[in-house]
Formats: sequence, structure tokens, C-alpha cells
Amino acid sequence: MSRDLTAPEQRRLVLDSVRDYLEQLAEEGLEGLPAAPPARAAAPKANALASKPATAKPQAPGSSASATDGASLPTAAVSSPRPAPAPVELLSRYPGLEKTATLEELSAFIGDCKRCKLAPLRTNLVFGVGNSEADLMFVGEAPGADEDARGEPFVGRAGQLLTDIIERGMGISRADVYICNVIKCRPPDNRNPEPDEVAACEPFLMRQIDLVRPRAIVALGAFAVQALLRVKTPISRLRGNWQEVRGVKLMPTFHPAYLLRSPGEKRLVWQDIQEVMKLLGMELPTRGGAR
Ligand code: URA
Repeated sequence: MSRDLTAPEQRRLVLDSVRDYLEQLAEEGLEGLPAAPPARAAAPKANALASKPATAKPQAPGSSASATDGASLPTAAVSSPRPAPAPVELLSRYPGLEKTATLEELSAFIGDCKRCKLAPLRTNLVFGVGNSEADLMFVGEAPGADEDARGEPFVGRAGQLLTDIIERGMGISRADVYICNVIKCRPPDNRNPEPDEVAACEPFLMRQIDLVRPRAIVALGAFAVQALLRVKTPISRLRGNWQEVRGVKLMPTFHPAYLLRSPGEKRLVWQDIQEVMKLLGMELPTRGGAR
């Protein structure tokens, strides 16, 4: 049975994460911490989810976002502003990546990618989909067979459950959020992505985060959480506790594929999603009230 972390446990979690991060920086040969981002702007008065059109910017190639179709967006006060741009250190693997200014430019930069051993195995590179100005971003692990075939993330059974969480649970359209994966190409037989594949692909995810600049990220499952946070802490310890990546609040939660196997855990994911909704100033459903 899960329980809330005590204050000392939370402190230990933070210290573990900081240590992992500093070790990672040292491995990358950096001698100091990246400069702190500038202070955030004051919170806007209205909910930014409601204030931005779902298709405010054109989508990158391979994306299939459509206009919001009738979902009524919340109007509660915003509790977290849009973050400032993050430093560019993690992008340095690919010179010029930091100059991409839109998702379209990023997608063109990635191109017909041959940077890792997954390239010859894929049908489609799965870049990402959704609102390029979304307040909320979901990050999964890697495309599966359905996603590889269609070139769009989260379109299989797990994807349907994610869509239900977004549309029936949160009461917004899938097209209002941005959805992508850590790895853009399908690993064979759905095996876990390997470290060299993560290293090749993660600068692109970092740039996606920088370009969308969501107010919150939901990281789905152990792999995405650990890759984004650069920690090895189990998902069961991290889920439900706010973290941060590139200046953006990150909520770790279970992967929808895990929920298909363990439906009893949906309750915990719903708790995590409600925390995200609170952060975004979204109206929570009343107890027992169906959306
Ligand atoms: N699982 C993921 O992590 N991502 C997808 O796009 C599909 C399934």
C-alpha cells in the first residue's frame, strides 16, 4: 500500500536527485551548475489553458492536432506561470540544435534521423503531436508497434487510456496538450531503450520542452521519469511528488500500459493528474460527478 513520504524521506529523495544530477554533470565534464533561469513572470489572471487556442501555431510534420472540439476549458485562477527558457547545455551534442526556433524547425533538424541504431528498424519516426503552445505536456517512453506504423505517439491501447485520462478525466481535448516520447523510434520487440539510444535522442526531447515551454509535464512511467530526471529512483517512490526539468514542473506517474495490467493503480494516477490540474488552475470534477 502506498503512503505519503515523510519530510525526511522527501529530503532524502531531493538529495539523491541532486547527487545524481551533479554526478551526471561531472560525467559530462561540466565544472559548475548551469546558470539559474531568470525570475518567472507574474502569474496571469486567467487560466492559460483556456486562453490559448489549441491550434495557435502550425504543427510539426507528423503531428495530427486538430482544433479543440467542444471541450469546455476551466477558468480557475492560475497557480503556476509559464517557465523561463532553460539553459542550452544538454543540447550541445548537436551543434545548431539550440537555434531551432519552432517544432517544425526541430523536426526538420532531426530529419530522416540516422543518429542511432534504431533508425533502420523503424517505419516512422514519431516526433510528437498536439498543441505547440500547450500548458501541459505528456512524455512517454518510446513508440510501440501502433505508433511506429502511424507516426503518432500513444495511439495504441495505452494511448487510448491516456486519451481517456486527458479527455474524460481532465475534461480537455487531446489536441490541447502536447504528447511525445523520450525516444522517437521504436525499439525492436518493444524492449527498453538502451543508453546510447537515449543519449542520441534526449537532446531532441529537451528542445521540445524548451520550445513548447509547458507549465507542467506529466512523465509517464519509470523509464520516462528516470530519463528526464536522470535518477534511478523507483517510480513508486517518485510518483505523486513534483519534480522539475528544464525549469518546468514535472509530475511523475505510472505509465498507461502499466494501468492496463494493474487497473487498481488508476486511483493513484488520478490523484497525480488532479495535482497537475490544481497547478494549472483547472477546475476539478466534483466528487462522484461524471465529466
Ligand atoms: N508507450 C509509450 O511510452 N509511448 C507511446 O507512444 C506508446 C506507448
